[in-house]
Amino acid sequence: VAGLVSPNTLEQIRAANDIVDVVGAVVPLKRAGANFRGLCPFHREKTPSFNVHPGNQMFKCFGCGKGGDVFTFVREYEGLDFMGAVRRLAERARITLEFENNPAAQQARHIKEVLWQIHEQITQRWHTVLLNDAAGQVARDYLHKRGVTDEAVKLFRIGAAPESWDDTVNWARSKSHDLAVVEQAGLIIQKEGTDRHYDRFRGRLIFPICDEQGRVIGFSGRILSGDEKVAKYVNSPETPIFTKGKVFFGLDKSKRALLDAQTAVVCEGQLDLISCYMAGVKNIVAPQGTALTPDHARILKRYVEEVVLCFDADNAGQKAAVRSLEPLLSAGLAVRVAAVPSGKDPDEFIKEHGGEAFQKLIAGAEGFFDFYLKRLCATNDVRTDKGRMTVLREFNEALAKTGNAVLIDTYAQKAAQRLGVEAQSVRAEFKKVKAHVAPVRDDEPPLDDLADEGAGQGETVLEPPTTHEMQLLKIILEHDEQAQAAADLLQPEWIRHPVLLRLVEKRLTLAARQEHRSAPAFYGEFQDDPAAQEILSTAMADDRPLPSPEVQLRDVVGWLRMEFFKRRAGELRHAMVDPALSDQQRAQAMRELTELRHIEKAAQIQSLQQRMPK
Ligand SMILES: [Zn+2]
Repeated sequence: VAGLVSPNTLEQIRAANDIVDVVGAVVPLKRAGANFRGLCPFHREKTPSFNVHPGNQMFKCFGCGKGGDVFTFVREYEGLDFMGAVRRLAERARITLEFENNPAAQQARHIKEVLWQIHEQITQRWHTVLLNDAAGQVARDYLHKRGVTDEAVKLFRIGAAPESWDDTVNWARSKSHDLAVVEQAGLIIQKEGTDRHYDRFRGRLIFPICDEQGRVIGFSGRILSGDEKVAKYVNSPETPIFTKGKVFFGLDKSKRALLDAQTAVVCEGQLDLISCYMAGVKNIVAPQGTALTPDHARILKRYVEEVVLCFDADNAGQKAAVRSLEPLLSAGLAVRVAAVPSGKDPDEFIKEHGGEAFQKLIAGAEGFFDFYLKRLCATNDVRTDKGRMTVLREFNEALAKTGNAVLIDTYAQKAAQRLGVEAQSVRAEFKKVKAHVAPVRDDEPPLDDLADEGAGQGETVLEPPTTHEMQLLKIILEHDEQAQAAADLLQPEWIRHPVLLRLVEKRLTLAARQEHRSAPAFYGEFQDDPAAQEILSTAMADDRPLPSPEVQLRDVVGWLRMEFFKRRAGELRHAMVDPALSDQQRAQAMRELTELRHIEKAAQIQSLQQRMPK
């Protein structure tokens, strides 16, 4: 993906976005020596361990370990992908990305900008109507009746569209907007066979829908009159800035809370969401008038590991919960269901029992499959064979989507208990259906096999790089000429850590080709390798000076060599007791060990000599 933007442009964007400015805009920072320090936005802490280094333009938290460059920060903080972060920072610095530089792309961007502007202006207008105008009285009364506070009205910028056919048309004319563009924004509709327009949103309570950055991109208008003939909700049509299946109402306000909680509560309507949010459940989103789509699930996965579905207790709400399962599971999210008791929606529940009771309800939400089994048993006649078979079939179809053998087995047991049948026969039934329905992840080995494999790889479980390995990386990062020297001094097998080895080899290759990279630019080349970036950011965060890099390089390489010999000796000693070793192999191992001892001795003598005064 990074290939879409040239390294040059990336560096230009990086240079134009000082990390202290970018981080400082959202995290209060204090100067601490050459650096800045603040409370980490990625984990909860009372004493600041989050450091920003203006020198190498990196950040590092010594509490949770998060670190990286300005792109990493924006990506993590805003929950964007890499290109999203590049776009954000390019926008911030008013840099045009080359692939957006052709006339068609420029035109598309121009249209988007105009649409954003129109949405922002009409949001302000409708908000003012709601707050002050006579035309907003019905909406004010309605909100008062629903118990929506002024604070919520302001925060969510709720508005009121006057009961009129041409209020928006006239407003657009007064602002000299091209009516064709206002039509494209979905605010007005052209009357068929004429060049006349009329308003889409008439006499409605208006909820602005924002993108993740908080820009208004569409509207949802709720009816205020009791007229049965018109739709309860009118929504913006799809426009160049608004795609229904990719937008969550409330996400622009809840994204920090999502990251903190690692859980997203998903509810159905705007008023439910506002009510929950104001009651303190801030990690909440609502899909925009559709069931959850795979795009929705992928967006959530950027923020959280788990979703709590909080849909109305009525049948439609429960069906929506079941329909949401597949995209959520496919995105790798865990799913729980909070059933609001006695036919209430979350808004009514909070009014009656308070925010704390609602928070408890969310915390106690049961696993999706417990919820689903109960629901299936309640909606089928489980006293009959036919009813029981239906329950088993539908339950298993849902379970199979997880591709999780342990989970399927656990619930085979539970379903058997619930239905009063043999667990054995449920398992057999499940296997039958599984063969038809779920070729999804059949290649995944059952958990037992995985455990065995894990034990076999015990020795390769990654320990962090050693101090000397980190020192080597730091030296060659900061000093190109030392990278060239290291190429002559170093043997790759002396480095034990595979990820760090990748970094060192890449750096040495670049040095051999006389290609210079600043440390941050080098870091940027590992966008697809988070493990490598983590090690790099740690090395770059270490800002102890290197007074004589040449000497330090020789020392560190010497240590790495010795450490390698020690490891090798250990391996050989270990191998020698292996009864499967042939005599010849044993003799060879013996020779190598003897050699190693000589080298060790020589090194000890050498280091003693070095320490003696000359
Ligand atoms: Zn942290």
